[in-house]
Amino acid sequence: MEKFKFLGLSEKTLPAIAKKGFTEPSPIQELTIPFLLDKDQDLIAQAQTGTGKTAAFALPILEKIERSSQPQVLILVPTRELAIQVAKEIHSLQGNRGLQIKPIYGGTAITKQFDQLKYGIDIIVGTPGRVLDLLSRKKMNLNHISHAVLDEADEMLNMGFIDDVEEILKQTNTHKRTLLFSATMPPEIIRIAKKYMHKYAVLSVKQQQITTDLTDQFYYRLKEQEKLEVLCRLMDIEKEFYGLVFCRTRGDVDKLTTSLIERGYAADGMHGEITQKLREKVLSKFRQKKINILVATDVAARGMDIPELTHVVNYAMTQHPEAYVHRIGRTGRAGKQGTAISFVTNSDLKALHMVERYTKDSIRQQNIPKVRDIIRYKKARIRDRIHDISESRLDDSFMKMADELLEKNDANKIVAAILQQHYHKDLDKSLYKEIQPVSQETRSKSFRKNKRPHHTGKRVWQNKHPFAKKAVKIYA
Ligand code: ADP
Ligand code: MG
Repeated sequence: MEKFKFLGLSEKTLPAIAKKGFTEPSPIQELTIPFLLDKDQDLIAQAQTGTGKTAAFALPILEKIERSSQPQVLILVPTRELAIQVAKEIHSLQGNRGLQIKPIYGGTAITKQFDQLKYGIDIIVGTPGRVLDLLSRKKMNLNHISHAVLDEADEMLNMGFIDDVEEILKQTNTHKRTLLFSATMPPEIIRIAKKYMHKYAVLSVKQQQITTDLTDQFYYRLKEQEKLEVLCRLMDIEKEFYGLVFCRTRGDVDKLTTSLIERGYAADGMHGEITQKLREKVLSKFRQKKINILVATDVAARGMDIPELTHVVNYAMTQHPEAYVHRIGRTGRAGKQGTAISFVTNSDLKALHMVERYTKDSIRQQNIPKVRDIIRYKKARIRDRIHDISESRLDDSFMKMADELLEKNDANKIVAAILQQHYHKDLDKSLYKEIQPVSQETRSKSFRKNKRPHHTGKRVWQNKHPFAKKAVKIYA
């Protein structure tokens, strides 16, 4: 906390930072906070995704504004999710300043936003389309803002919002500070800066290491048609799986989600085509860990605020190294270990090498888990779980039943019978399809036809829930 104080933040702000659990500023925050507090120039700031750029501009801005009836700060972001997330982050940093900080985005009733604007929003966090809409309806006045922030500027460029952004900037007063925050720095960004900024500084945190040591990266070599089976094996063998699975198209998302649900996994999908309402519903289910697998496209996952994931799976390997880094940056955060797994077919090899060159990391190949290993792990987990339950307070009526059973039967047989009854589906080897090592081109035709059983939601949950042990204990 001393370090934040040292950067020049006030007593009004420090408790909010402490409450968020930040102990020291990130490198980009160390650069931008004193600059924005002390100087009066415009700024371009660059640091990779997940390095706290929101607080890097929000903290100093918060120090400079007070509640007013006019919008004072406009923050433009590329997606609705980001609008919500950034507004939330700033709200949590404002302490008890009582500022109105609101996300403004399309796909929701515009009339509600009229009311909010009438009441007075100090900090607008908006997507370009909706902001432009409100400006043209004369419901938003940006003539008195002190700060305009283009957040995730490279994404706004990528998504083709740049004309909207320029149009919005033209409708703001000239005497304001313009800040541009971005993970990468394409030339177009400098063009915008030259056109719309006064004298500006560039602060950048060099990407010494693009990926974090906390993310274990490996890949499987496989064939397209084996991906589903391999994903299932992977999830079955992992102790905890709370992850994002990336597909290429929305069709792929739908197909994979359906297959996973059919096989009894707690999954849902997200892509650009689903309604805002449904998106929020799916996201909230995922955040509450009611589902532990979220299948998504890059576009849908952009800006999604989700807590530490245990896994990111490149079910479809991306052809863009930046996208790879972006994807896997969602795990191995906040000091927690994470795993990034890429599914690599023959045609993905080039992309894999490009990623390795770009990240200067080597991604390790791993063997696809064998069925007997999965069964072994599963057995070990069942033993652990039963041990844990037996250590907890057991229900009297079950204790009584146990006494009755043991009075007349052999203890070994009784335990085996209960295990068989409860776990035979989990331990059934025939539910897994065969996979041939990729190097062997002669594939056996003996794929088994068996499908995995369709479990009921509840059982699936006990098996697949990342905190399954806890969940079971509650029952005991
Ligand atoms: P970026 O915009 O650079 O991708 P965000 O601003 O979204 O990153 O921040 C990523 C996460 O890091 C957020 O959950 C945020 O609360 C957290 N964070 C920001 N600053 C710090 C800090 N100094 N210490 C710990 N966590 C931080
Ligand atoms: Mg950001």
